[in-house]
This record gives sequence, C-alpha cells and structure tokens, in this order.
Amino acid sequence: METRRDFLAQAAVGAIAVAAAPAAHAIGYAPVPAGTPHTLPALPYAAEALEPYIDAQTMNLHHGKHHQAYVTGLNKAEDELAKARQSGDFALIQHWSKQAAFHGGGHWLHSMFWKVMAPAGKGGGGEPTGDLLTAINESFGSFDAFKKQFTAAAVAVEGSGWALLHYRQADQRLIILQAENQHKLTSWGTTPIMGIDVWEHAYYLKYQNKRADYVNAWWNIVNWQQVAANLR
Ligand code: MN
Repeated sequence: METRRDFLAQAAVGAIAVAAAPAAHAIGYAPVPAGTPHTLPALPYAAEALEPYIDAQTMNLHHGKHHQAYVTGLNKAEDELAKARQSGDFALIQHWSKQAAFHGGGHWLHSMFWKVMAPAGKGGGGEPTGDLLTAINESFGSFDAFKKQFTAAAVAVEGSGWALLHYRQADQRLIILQAENQHKLTSWGTTPIMGIDVWEHAYYLKYQNKRADYVNAWWNIVNWQQVAANLR
C-alpha cells in the first residue's frame, strides 16, 4: 500500500513536472540547482568611479578581497552542511549554521551595496523621487528626517556593521535598522533595499577613524534609481 501510494505520488509529481516545465516560473519555485557555488558579482562601475568619496584602493580591496571572502565562506558553509546531511553527523551544526549566516549576510549585503552606489552626478547623489520619495515621506515624515536617522544609525553602529533601509512587507513601511557584523540586530519579515557598510574596511584607508565623514560623503554616491527599483 505504502509502495503504491509512493508510486502514485511520484507519478503525479512527474506528470506535473513534465506538464509545467515550459512555465516553471508559474509555480514560483525554480531554485538554482543544489551545489551550484555562489560567485562574486562584478562591480557595476570602475573601481575609481566613486572617487573622491570612496577611493579606488578601498574599492578594490573591499570587492576583490573582503566580498570574495564572504562568497568563499558561504560556499564552504553550505558544502559542509550538505556533507553533514549526507553523513548524518551534525556535531558541527552550530558552527556551520553561524558561518552560513555570517558569510551569507556578507555576500547578499555587499551584492546590494555595490548596486545602490553610482558615480556622483552620473546616477549617484541627489534625492529620491516618485514612489520611493512618497514611501520615505510616509514612513519617516520627510526625506530630511529619514536622512538624519539613517546617518545617525550608521555612525552609531557598535563595532563593524551596517545601517540598512528595509521594506517591511506586513505594513508596507520602510524602516531603518542597524546590523552588527553582517546579520545581527535584524528583524523578521523585512527586506533591505539600501545600506551603507560601516566596517572599517569600507572607509579606513581614506577616512581613518572619522566614520561620520565617510557616512556624510556617502550621500553623494547613493543610486536612488536602484533603491527605487529595489523597493518595486
Ligand atoms: Mn564590507
């Protein structure tokens, strides 16, 4: 009986898979095949394009070394978790789960970070418009109030971390949160649509200990079109 039911279930799945194959997106589940490694996305501009606000040396190290390390770390963690599933040995589950959260947080946040910046005057800087501005006004009162809160959150991150603008699905509001490291202090049901990296590796070569100068300069290179696209 069990065998017959399993057979019927598999036959049904197979039939659905064949029938639905041309419209896989219609069922909303088309994952990248298991075991496919994560890769470092290319910068959407030259390393020196954000000068004078972020220098080329910082960009090259930040993207080529730091972000790459998160990609490598995430792949390693996911490989180890796959091995644990195969062997049934979960002795290091806490370690690899933490590694997956840390490096995964780093990979996704940096992938967003590069895109929400653009050269000043060529897509970077200015102020948001349209639906994004409306959402900011409704959530924070005004763009100026939003900018002050976001700046304060970024400057005040304890140690290494981020200030992040999130979209919260439940009430369709924008909220500002800090993240320590790449993943701590966040909430649930929220999606970051913009963020500034305030790890020292993001600014120390140019700004040394003056994080506030870096945060204030950063507004000159925010790509509001991309933030608006992220909100959509
Ligand atoms: Mn970083």
